[in-house]
Amino acid sequence: MQQRFTGKVAIVTGAGQGIGQGVALRLAAEGAAVVIADYNASTAAETGVEIQVAGGVALPYAVNIADVGAVQTMVDDVAAHFGRIDILVNNAGVVQTKPLLDLDEIDWDRVIDVNQRGTFFVLQAVARQMIRQLPDSVRGGAGVADLLSNKLDKRTAEAAATSQALAASYGKIVNFSSIAGRRGRPLSTHYAASKAAIISITQSAALALAPYRINVNAVCPGIVPTPMWTQIDQDRAHLFGAREGEAMAAFIQQVPLKRAAAPEDLAGVVAFLCSADADYITGQAINVDGGYEMN
Ligand code: NAD
Repeated sequence: MQQRFTGKVAIVTGAGQGIGQGVALRLAAEGAAVVIADYNASTAAETGVEIQVAGGVALPYAVNIADVGAVQTMVDDVAAHFGRIDILVNNAGVVQTKPLLDLDEIDWDRVIDVNQRGTFFVLQAVARQMIRQLPDSVRGGAGVADLLSNKLDKRTAEAAATSQALAASYGKIVNFSSIAGRRGRPLSTHYAASKAAIISITQSAALALAPYRINVNAVCPGIVPTPMWTQIDQDRAHLFGAREGEAMAAFIQQVPLKRAAAPEDLAGVVAFLCSADADYITGQAINVDGGYEMN
């Protein structure tokens, strides 16, 4: 295994299980100190133990990403504990299968609050910390207040442009969208809307943070058999009287590579996007779906 993240500090949200766990294990195996940020304290602790047993560094952290105050506290705690944050994998999310005409406000708010609002405010809090820790050559002497208010002044742009720092990256952020963000989903309208919004947030953040050499990208997984998909399968079986597993099997039939993804398939792509090999990639949403979508 390469050691691309030695000395780096990563936060992975939703790392207690599923894809987030796979990503956390991969970043830790490549040398990162990983914050296992999850709503579920016990699964976060389990992932942390798995990393520590393998010789890695992990900090399990219980947080609800829909709570903006709690997110800020987490970022402050991590910065105090490790001194910096280099990588954010904004993976935590929730899904619900329910026909469009049956959705109510509670359904809508729950999914949007976690997936869209939560993803944005974690990104914002971490980006502010990444800017705080920028070397002076990139800051170009601008006041911290200017940087935090995201007004790139002329001096900062000129200093950055003439600096060797131009080629470097000072932070990597990977957001989790979905192929559901690429096309409508009548059985998960709110989920699809939140995932489309994450692609838009990724593009806006890539533009806003490019002057600080912070790369922001998204991944769009296809079908990954995690607890989330078990729930989708059960909900669809309940709605349509199908057998459990039928929805997933039908979906896989439409995947050109004719298999579901493993969390490791996502972890490899995320690790690449967090590595120096991806320093010139920003604002992209990459389908990791066996060829299901091609846009
Ligand atoms: P999962 O349900 O198996 O795991 C999600 C994790 O996020 C859980 O550990 C959960 O406790 C945590 N979480 C949920 N709400 C949270 C909150 N408010 N604060 C903090 N943590 C919270 O899901 P997964 O399948 O591993 O999916 C991971 C990401 O990938 C999600 O964003 C999901 O939308 C996306 N995705 C998954 C699939 C798939 O097929 N599994 C496909 C496309 C996109």
